[in-house]
Amino acid sequence: MKKYDYHVHSHFSGDCETDVRDILEFGIKNHVDTICLTDHYDYDYPYDDVCFELDIDNYFPTLERLQETYKDRINLLIGIEVGVQPHIIDFLHKKLCQYPFDFIIASTHLIDKMDPYYKDFFTGKTQYEAYYRYFETILETVKTYKEYDVFGHLDYIIRYGNFENKSLSSFDYNDIIDEILKTIIDTSHGIEINTSGLRYGLNQAHPNEKILKRYRELGGEIITIGSDAHNAKDLCSYYDYAVDMLKNCGFKYLSIFQKRKPTLIKLDS
Ligand SMILES: [Zn+2]
Ligand SMILES: [Zn+2]
Repeated sequence: MKKYDYHVHSHFSGDCETDVRDILEFGIKNHVDTICLTDHYDYDYPYDDVCFELDIDNYFPTLERLQETYKDRINLLIGIEVGVQPHIIDFLHKKLCQYPFDFIIASTHLIDKMDPYYKDFFTGKTQYEAYYRYFETILETVKTYKEYDVFGHLDYIIRYGNFENKSLSSFDYNDIIDEILKTIIDTSHGIEINTSGLRYGLNQAHPNEKILKRYRELGGEIITIGSDAHNAKDLCSYYDYAVDMLKNCGFKYLSIFQKRKPTLIKLDS
């Protein structure tokens, strides 16, 4: 089937140096149909070593020029990955509705104003407490935050923390994950399957297969595929694997977005 990557970073993200043209050229060579750039926007990010503000006023004209240049060769869409924290929800609602994004991913990158990439978030917490607090923050977010299309890398907390078994299987988070999934479904939003976990050696995509199955069982239908590439070569990585996993989990369709409207594409097409 055609390849649609709905989670891609470029030099507009504070943690990425990749030129958008390199991503587009790689996509053309590898027969990618659509690239939706989703650069980071983490407002009120509390650490100084990296800036996750996005220069949105420069982002649009730059990408619009590239859309025009490449329009006969590849489809480029303008998205964003917004880091949501409960205390900035009102601000984000007002800010993001001013721009004509094709697609918005909401992600929880900060928990109680701490990034789990750094040790301080895990200090004084057991693994269960740390993971549970992450899911509580997501639940609070999806109950109140509305300006998004899919929720990003639902279980990405397992990337971090110095634990022997990082997977969710050591403890039972079923009830809170069910509540998160039901809220996402009830509010007509979706999730993504984010293949970066496979590149990180975690042996799973985000979220894991059990959560994907549960989302489908609960009636979840809207799902996008994203590589979370920060390098051109990672564009659409593990794409066929993700398609197979979606089929195994009972999905019949993949979602693609344009101007914030989903279209369902049959997984066999
Ligand atoms: Zn993210
Ligand atoms: Zn990302």
